[in-house]
Amino acid sequence: MHLQTYFIEFSYLLASILFILGLKGLSHPETAKRGMHLAEFGMMMAIIGTLLHFEIVSYTWIIIGLLVGSTLGLAMGVWVPMTAMPQRTALSHAFGAFAAALVGIAEYYSYTHGFKLDELGNVVELGRINMGAMGFEVMLGSLTTTGSLIAFGKLQGIVPGQPLVYRGQNIFNMTLLATTIGLFIYLIFVPTAVIPFYIMLTLAFVFGVLLVLPIGSADMPVVMSLLNSYAGLASAATGFVLKNNVLIIAGTLDGFSGFILSILMCRAMNRSITNVLFGAFGSAATVAGAEGQQGEMREVSLDDIAVQLAYASKVVFVPGYGLATAQAQHAVRELASVLEQRGVTVKYGIHPVAGRMPGHMNVLLAEANVPYSQLYELEQINPEFPTTDVAVVIGANDVVNPDARDNPNSPIAGMPILEVDHAKSVVVLKRGQGKGFSGLENPLFFKPVTGMLYGDAKDTLTKLVGAVQHA
Ligand code: NAP
Repeated sequence: MHLQTYFIEFSYLLASILFILGLKGLSHPETAKRGMHLAEFGMMMAIIGTLLHFEIVSYTWIIIGLLVGSTLGLAMGVWVPMTAMPQRTALSHAFGAFAAALVGIAEYYSYTHGFKLDELGNVVELGRINMGAMGFEVMLGSLTTTGSLIAFGKLQGIVPGQPLVYRGQNIFNMTLLATTIGLFIYLIFVPTAVIPFYIMLTLAFVFGVLLVLPIGSADMPVVMSLLNSYAGLASAATGFVLKNNVLIIAGTLDGFSGFILSILMCRAMNRSITNVLFGAFGSAATVAGAEGQQGEMREVSLDDIAVQLAYASKVVFVPGYGLATAQAQHAVRELASVLEQRGVTVKYGIHPVAGRMPGHMNVLLAEANVPYSQLYELEQINPEFPTTDVAVVIGANDVVNPDARDNPNSPIAGMPILEVDHAKSVVVLKRGQGKGFSGLENPLFFKPVTGMLYGDAKDTLTKLVGAVQHA
């Protein structure tokens, strides 16, 4: 083997190891940054290895692509705010999947136009195995491209966020998918059938749009990690087509980690993947039948809460989506510091699906330098609530809804919750009577143990800092 080939294979092996270590690092907030750097270094090794390939005849277009891609990536990294991370990720998935689809189309074109030559210069025919891998890549790559673009549009507010549903939708979508897969299977037997190939490509693009339109914007993180897994599998298929080991390994890692993440998110919401994809959760139909108001909510004053907090021995903050919208992470950190100075033990209870994307609360709190040692997962913090003096719910709703535990008829029955209602006192910071993502009423707000402190979470927390200092 040529020395260059050795180096390419070595760089691919190193990149694959670094990707695995990177993924492992991402499994804990404390090691996540290091994991990210390892994965970045791995990607650099993979790019360097790829640039050394013998097949490259000119670097002009590659350099142009590198410059355009790096500039876009840098701009996105610098200017996209933390709160827009979900839509940024959706856009990256769309780019990645489109790249996979384009490689597949280019390869198909080369094969069917006699441009594919072996080392001796003979034209290579398109065999069934290669067609299978290529068809898979093009089909998944195309539907992931348009699906991710619609996910981006929904999260950015360009496309309506609520589920767009119509009668017979699931049957129509399934027929479309079956036709696309049918054409794919036909192509495996007749690889040179150019027209069916392009029809399959078009149908896959259309299917991506129709798959995501009926899903509500709040379910987009699950959809995206699922699309991520499709994009990964498309890349693995690209690896088979191009006989590129690092693409096969990275694609498979991406494919399965995305799939596992989707399952974990669904489990934390006690919903099935089918319910997320086809249930139109959050639409009027799913909320119908939910119970109405259950008594009076008790409003409390800011000064009363400040006194309670100042003289507590243990306070647990439970952040939710409202913390993200209010950007209240720095304010809660400040309040925690003031309380700690007074000798109060402060902890944070983190629900796996609080907010709107996996790790949403961890990312925000890390930005405000909240120590990881104060973050407690659901199973760790729940036993602590009975000994907690004040549980402060900050813009969270569904993740603290006791109906999930107590009411078997509730649409969210069985979803694990943070059991704040077991604390000695609960205070809920929210702007008004707004519902959570599920659109359900929350009986926690009507319990005698609960006091409601209305206002934007950041404003309220900032005022509480001052009030606690003077308590
Ligand atoms: P939530 O149930 O959506 O409730 C958020 C609450 O925050 C609302 O009731 C709202 O009430 C309040 N709020 C909004 N803006 C606020 C502000 N500026 N200041 C104070 N309060 C504010 O949130 P959650 O408890 O975090 O639950 C997350 C939900 O999203 C779950 O149902 C979960 O299944 C779903 N989900 C999560 C993910 C994920 O990956 N994390 C993915 C898909 C779905 P007001 O309007 O009255 O203020």
